[in-house]
Order: sequence, then structure tokens, then C-alpha cells
Amino acid sequence: MLPSHITLVEVGPRDGLQNEPVIVPPAIRARLITLLAEAGLTMIEAGAFVRPDLVPAMAATAQVLATLALPQIRLPVLVANRRGLADALAAGARDIAVFTAASDSFCKRNMGCSLEQSLSRFAEMIPLAQGCRVRGYISCALACPFDGPTPPARVAELAATLTALGCHEISLGDTMGTGTPVAARAMVAAVAERVPIGQLALHFHDSYGQALANILACLELGVAVVDASVAGLGGCPFAPGAGGNVATEDVLFMLDGMGITTGVRLDKVVAAGRFITDHLGHPPVSKVSRALG
Ligand code: MG
Repeated sequence: MLPSHITLVEVGPRDGLQNEPVIVPPAIRARLITLLAEAGLTMIEAGAFVRPDLVPAMAATAQVLATLALPQIRLPVLVANRRGLADALAAGARDIAVFTAASDSFCKRNMGCSLEQSLSRFAEMIPLAQGCRVRGYISCALACPFDGPTPPARVAELAATLTALGCHEISLGDTMGTGTPVAARAMVAAVAERVPIGQLALHFHDSYGQALANILACLELGVAVVDASVAGLGGCPFAPGAGGNVATEDVLFMLDGMGITTGVRLDKVVAAGRFITDHLGHPPVSKVSRALG
């Protein structure tokens, strides 16, 4: 049964911009977030409190938050450790996102720690985020570039662990974008046996053109939260190894066409996408945006 309403989580200002080759100044990032809020998005990933030498695109996220005047909007920020969490809380963040992967090899290559160590880090951090809503990202939920296909049972176990540690929502990431609908649905069904489906979000990448099909397959299970990136930010065709986030415009066009409400206006998201891609110097990576000319 399809849900009648979907919450779109806009990840462009963080997951998207972090994977673009052009560094966007804080004032433009704040303007983008404001345009997205004006389009009706109520949950917008606003930045990350991580080392600026490692992730220069997310430097000055405190400045972005300080510029925004959006009390009604949830603005999760990504943190990787206690230092980042402390900085985020000092900047007034009320929504935190933490990340791990359902693959030990991916954890080691991307976070420099084992999966077990990343969970110990969460166990230390999450109690310090009292009063915050904590979103847990699981990368490689369908496949890992080093370890191949991910067993659904492993994702389910990890999601249950993150929930027990205090995550309010689990975002299931098809990081490679190689997932197809039957596998995606089987993974989400396995996770839903351990974590209530209302606490799950889909974070699918469109690298292989499968994201909308995968999203639809999982919506049929009752998932009601979908991550997407305005203009497909992070999927820049000129950036090798780019993120490939599914475009918000493309997800919204599908949901609008199916009569599923989101509270988000397509024309305004398209305009926000063009605002930011003008700064990035490449066209939107969204079929809908391109089709609308
Ligand atoms: Mg992503």
C-alpha cells in the first residue's frame, strides 16, 4: 500500500554540495536553504561539522546556521565525532546526523575506523546530543564498492543497533546506486522487521538510473521518508566519482503524478536548483528540470 504523504528530506546543501568540485560560500548556501524552505521542504540537511581541511565545502556551517531564520524547519547537520557534535550544539543545531556503513571495508576506507569502532563512537556521541533528533545514515545498504552485495540481514542488524543507540530515523543509502527494485525492497523489508517502518528513510543514488524505480518499490512497503538532492547536486557529470543523489525535482514529479502529497512546490524547487547550479557552473542533473527548460 502506498503512503498518501511523503516527507522529502532535502540533502543538496550538504550531501550534494560536499560532492561538487566548486566550493560555495556560506551566504549562497544559506540562500539555497532558504529557497528550498520557501518551496515547502521542511527538513533540509544544512551542512556538516567536520574538518574543513578534509571537507572544505562544508567549512563555516556555523555561519550558515547563524544566517538562517527558519524556526519551523528542521536543519540536520552531519557530525563525525564528539568534537563535531560539540561544535554543532554550540552553533544551535537541534537535528544531528551521524553516519556509518554496512560494510567494514567501506568504514575503514572512508572513516578510517572499523564498523565496530564507528558504533562505539556513536555510543559515546549520541547521549551528548540530548534534546536533538538524531538521524543515522547507513551507507552501502545494498552494495559496497569493495565487498560487493550487502546481505539485507546485516543492514537490519545495524539499523536495529543504531536505533537502540538512540537514532530516531535510519536513512538507508544505496551509495553505489547499483541497487535494483527487488533487492531494494528486500533490504527495506528486512530492516522493517527490526525497526518500525515509520523510522526509515530511503537515500538512493541514481548513478545507474535506478533510483525512482527503487524508491517506488520501497514506498509500496509503506516507507514515507525519502532523501533527495535539489538539481541532483553531488551527481555532477564533470566530477569523477560524484555522489549521484537522486534529484528532488525527479522524485517530486513522480510523487505529484501519483497524487502523493509532499507539501513541496516543483516550480520553486526547480528555481532553487537553477540558482545553485548557476553558481556551480553546470546544468541541473535532474531530468525534470531539464525537461521543463
Ligand atoms: Mg548521498
